[in-house]
Amino acid sequence: MNKEVRTRFAPSPTGGLHLGGVRTALYSYLYAKKHAGTFVLRVEDTDQTRYVEGAEKYILDCLDWCGISPDESPLKSGPYAPYRQSERKPMYKQYALQLIENGHAYYAFDTPEDLEKMRTDLKSEKNPSPQYDHSTRMQMKNSLTLSAEEVNDLLAKNTPFVVRIKMPSNETISFTDMIRGEINNDSNLVDDKVLLKGDGMPTYHLAVVVDDYLMKITHAFRGEEWLPSAPVHIKLWDYLGWKNDMPQWAHLPLILKPDGNGKLSKRDGDRLGFPVFAMNWFDPKTNETTIGFKEIGFLPEAFINLLAMLGWHSGEEKELFSKDELISIFSMERVHKGGAKFDYEKAKWFNHEWVKTISDDRCMMLVKPILQAKGIVIKDDAYLLKVIGAVKDRCTLLNDFYTQSVYFFETPTSFDTDAIKPKWNEDKTAFFNELMSQCAASTNWNAVELETIFKELATAKNIKMGELQMPFRIMLVGGKFGPGVFEIAEMIGKESTFERVKMVLGML
Ligand code: GLU
Repeated sequence: MNKEVRTRFAPSPTGGLHLGGVRTALYSYLYAKKHAGTFVLRVEDTDQTRYVEGAEKYILDCLDWCGISPDESPLKSGPYAPYRQSERKPMYKQYALQLIENGHAYYAFDTPEDLEKMRTDLKSEKNPSPQYDHSTRMQMKNSLTLSAEEVNDLLAKNTPFVVRIKMPSNETISFTDMIRGEINNDSNLVDDKVLLKGDGMPTYHLAVVVDDYLMKITHAFRGEEWLPSAPVHIKLWDYLGWKNDMPQWAHLPLILKPDGNGKLSKRDGDRLGFPVFAMNWFDPKTNETTIGFKEIGFLPEAFINLLAMLGWHSGEEKELFSKDELISIFSMERVHKGGAKFDYEKAKWFNHEWVKTISDDRCMMLVKPILQAKGIVIKDDAYLLKVIGAVKDRCTLLNDFYTQSVYFFETPTSFDTDAIKPKWNEDKTAFFNELMSQCAASTNWNAVELETIFKELATAKNIKMGELQMPFRIMLVGGKFGPGVFEIAEMIGKESTFERVKMVLGML
């Protein structure tokens, strides 16, 4: 019988959510949804030293913005609650004790000084950075080297200790990764990771295995930086007697800098001028805010679309996919093994395409607050909707709507008269004055009527259309951009058109 698919995203609340993290969540979500399964969000907050205030809420908000909604989470709860590891603390110790009892883990009482001494004393040409492992553990202070009485005595005296896994020696630890296929690890190269700390708090290694088991996770997606830890986890599944329930692993390739030279970091984003986090992240430690894709003007549709394509290909030429389409076509076979270079220009292309695709109504909902925040007073939603329809194709990011539409609401504060002046003459001034009086006499004010008057007058005065249309545009818009100039004139109205034309004529 096939098990119900249960995937999880298991972030640690340590800071802003990098786009690689969102991609892990997305693939995990798509896989679950494709197989009519459940997507779980588990907060891995056992490392109190790395805990950052506000990071958990921020991660949940980011997923919410992306439309990657967990079926079970600290907010939603579910059959395997709690979904925050710090709240599950009492559950882990018994497994650590079970491992000790079965000879797969041991107490270690070494002080930080002992560990330091080991690293310096055992350092050799052959072993430049000695670890706590099969080759060194018997020279350390632990329940493998001390007698049972000594161990009990130390425990009774509340001597600080940790529990370490006893990694096997001379073993090949193999598993099949959904992306990379069979992976073999030499157990001798893996150290005896700490599983439980003296205060009863598990480390990530123990907690991730216990929780994936208890939460019945069938497929575990995570970044490839976790590959070196995989042998530890495989052995824990084995030693705890859960081997048959072990999830299938998928270690996702890195997202690389645009030049392909290493992992994309927040610093690269700062340096190259693009966001790396999903949403604005305010770091309470530095009091600094890092800009996110949301705030720079990306649509969530575009963001998940571009993330889906970073490291996976659809097998089709088409590149624009909605979330529902992604769910139906997502497949692990087409996830790349190699890292994916992040290309910001391409990311913007996705957004531009999505801005053109979404309905004007939805666009208005998103753009209105952006314009209002810039001080634009919007009296009439129907008018805003028309403006959006007129400029939408010209906007790559949502924030572009401000520059692309401000002149529909306010008279420009500057005009590119330098572009007009060199070819300006009295005939053109006369043209615009006459245009205004003819329009004033007409009762109709619309783009078609205006264009007809404009053309006839230009022909009568024997001036080329192009030499008049460009100045007209600058008079209304301030610069050489925007949709059809007659359409703009119709929308801003006769009064505003005349006001702007007169203003610029005065400057010329
Ligand atoms: N808590 C780990 C992290 O934040 C997740 C690793 C995993 O998914 O197993 O990277």
